[in-house]
Amino acid sequence: MMQLAQPLNFFGFVYREIKQALVDMETMFSLLRVPAEVTDQPDAPAMQVKEGRVTFEEVHFHYQPEREILKGVSFEIPPGRKLAVVGASGAGKSTLSRLLFRFYDVTGGTIRIDGQDIREVSQDSLRAAIGIVPQDTVLFNDTLGYNIAYGRPDCSRADVERAAAIAQLDRFVTSLPEGYDTQVGERGLKLSGGEKQRVAIARMVLKEPAILIFDEATSALDSQTEQEILKSLNEVSRARTTLVIAHRLSTVVDADEIVVLDAGRVAERGNHSDLLARDGLYAAMWWRQQKQSEAAQEGTEPPLSDD
Ligand code: ADP
Ligand code: MG
Repeated sequence: MMQLAQPLNFFGFVYREIKQALVDMETMFSLLRVPAEVTDQPDAPAMQVKEGRVTFEEVHFHYQPEREILKGVSFEIPPGRKLAVVGASGAGKSTLSRLLFRFYDVTGGTIRIDGQDIREVSQDSLRAAIGIVPQDTVLFNDTLGYNIAYGRPDCSRADVERAAAIAQLDRFVTSLPEGYDTQVGERGLKLSGGEKQRVAIARMVLKEPAILIFDEATSALDSQTEQEILKSLNEVSRARTTLVIAHRLSTVVDADEIVVLDAGRVAERGNHSDLLARDGLYAAMWWRQQKQSEAAQEGTEPPLSDD
């Protein structure tokens, strides 16, 4: 009986693996299919970035028609300012950044940069103007230096080192025996979530985009690391238009405007003190997180809800 149980388990395992592989393939195809729908208009001109003003006008969006994710979202980020979007998991925050980068087209409303509808300019010129630090940075199976320089293959080692210093990655790199030549990724050194985000920040320093998007990592980072990453980010985002998607509200205290997204709609907006005074969703989130960090200081941190 025992002998039979093993092969059955084995086939059960193989079956689950195959099923998962099919599901993954479906996901992959749908990912490949969707961006293919985003196409340049014939002779689409290059976007002209003059000041870097970002405007969302009554933006609607769905991934599947039966489920609308954004239900008329409007906001404006004036040139060089920082706007933060906060809200519960699944509210549609990361979707906003995907739309601004034009991974997908809006299904209603308009996104403009310096007045130009992003659907009417070439995708290359749009993406050249925007730097993203995503929630989870994917690294290539190559050296650390290559990964930092990715997108600017022509830049010098000195440029890479300068960018790494701004991203506060330099101490970590010099602690590695092979430094910038260290292999990373699946077959090399595994970087922590915080280190990967710093690689993305270093990439952004080299790219020097007019517009920055920072999709903050979640519970993967402890608050010490988070504070250090924010410091590096502030270094880069000074005088650039910045969209921050924030999970920890300590990130947004200094934002020029905070938008609270709730189930695809703007529920509240204002700066930190406006929103605390309002005593609504934002204030409730703020006090909840304050309690969590107090508990953390007493060494009894309840896990931050993941997103
Ligand atoms: P947030 O960043 O606020 O947690 P997201 O913008 O990532 O939320 O997602 C908003 C909603 O859209 C979620 O319910 C999520 O499940 C759904 N969603 C995200 N990406 C896709 C996708 N590629 N296809 C279908 N639904 C998606
Ligand atoms: Mg998200």
